[in-house]
Amino acid sequence: MEANTVGKLIKLLSEYPKDMIITNQANQPFIHIINRQGEALTLSTEKPIGYCRKCGDYAYEELNRELDYPGQCPTCDENLYNFEINSLENGSK
Ligand SMILES: [Zn+2]
Repeated sequence: MEANTVGKLIKLLSEYPKDMIITNQANQPFIHIINRQGEALTLSTEKPIGYCRKCGDYAYEELNRELDYPGQCPTCDENLYNFEINSLENGSK
């Protein structure tokens, strides 16, 4: 499947009212936009809980409650303990 680009999105979005909410397929609103330094623009339905201490990218809440980890890093593809997560407030990305 061909990836969407910013250009395609701008063209598509120009046809919609500016205050219309954008959701994913499960009707969850995209609440966080991540600029990946010119590599990609990522829309997320989850708010990050901090920064991963290993790679510096955003860490998110681990939604699988059966695991004993509070966080996870999509970039490292690993679950994270609290001590592996820097807070957002410190800006220590
Ligand atoms: Zn990481």
